[in-house]
Amino acid sequence: MSYKDPVCGKRINRGKAHMIIEIEGVNYFLCCPRCQTEFEHNLKLYARPELGEKARKIQHYPVKQHN
Ligand SMILES: [Zn+2]
Repeated sequence: MSYKDPVCGKRINRGKAHMIIEIEGVNYFLCCPRCQTEFEHNLKLYARPELGEKARKIQHYPVKQHN
C-alpha cells in the first residue's frame, strides 16, 4: 500500500515515509524533511483528506437499539 505525498506528489510506501503527520483524523505521508516543512507551513493547501489515510484509532460505531 502506498500513499501520495501531498507536497511533491510522489508515491510513498507506508513504511518508508520520512514523516507521518495526523491532521483531523487523517494521516499524511511526507517523503523528506523538505516536504514536511512545506506541508507544515501550508496546511490549508496540502491537508486534503483524499490524499491521506484515515487514521484508524478513532472508531465510532453508532449503536442502534432495537429492543
Ligand atoms: Zn515529497
